[in-house]
Amino acid sequence: MPESREKIEAAIKREVRQRCGFGCVVCGKPFYEYDHIDEYSKVREHDPENLTLLCPDHHAEKTRGLRSTAQVRASNADPFNRRMGSSSPYMLAYGGAVSKVSIGSNSFVQTMGSVSEPLVLNGEPRVRVRTESGNLLVSARLFDASGAIILTIDDNELKYDTSIWDVEFVADRLVVREAHRKILAKLVFSPPDSITVERAYFSHEGLSVQVTAREIVYATERGRLSFSGNSVLDIPYPRGIVLTDEKHVVGDLPAAFHFPV
Ligand SMILES: [Zn+2]
Repeated sequence: MPESREKIEAAIKREVRQRCGFGCVVCGKPFYEYDHIDEYSKVREHDPENLTLLCPDHHAEKTRGLRSTAQVRASNADPFNRRMGSSSPYMLAYGGAVSKVSIGSNSFVQTMGSVSEPLVLNGEPRVRVRTESGNLLVSARLFDASGAIILTIDDNELKYDTSIWDVEFVADRLVVREAHRKILAKLVFSPPDSITVERAYFSHEGLSVQVTAREIVYATERGRLSFSGNSVLDIPYPRGIVLTDEKHVVGDLPAAFHFPV
């Protein structure tokens, strides 16, 4: 018989995620379940102090008795990701023949064999897709509004900073918040070939843009530049939207949209 039990409140889940560093306390993996360290059937309550995060493998070990409650309690007291300062790397399963990147409603579709740099700030690609030996490799750097890096993807290897307020990785969607209802980043992964950036800040050497579901915005006191609904399909240029300020040299790689700002 399945146990009937109350749902764990969202605020309690968040408190547990924060304490555990947004990953399995044993190995740091960003896929996890909320585990009652002392069984729910005994305690009959969702005390956050008795809840921890375990990935499916480590959860199964505990359930089968191959990892003791005392061992889980010890990991819970010293979570893997808290010790490392960032999440344990997770390899995204990219590998399609075409890369499809969507950033703030702007879409960039490139056929295998070419490098695609959909967004370049002051000469530095902030999202980049390339192929190597038939594998599609995605890289990206995401920031907070002050320009600090919060999340990186290096050749499909995803990692996030564990000092941020909240990270929720549910199904294929990763949401990073800096406070209640304040989203810093929202990414949707659709392997083998697609990645969608619905919210983000991108930054490089003094130049920043904000991404919402509808647009990419570069804004200063002097003015505002918005990109929305652009579609770049198999152009012979490696670069998509390129912004360069007066302190940086314009690179010689051709781009679909190039704006000196
Ligand atoms: Zn684990």
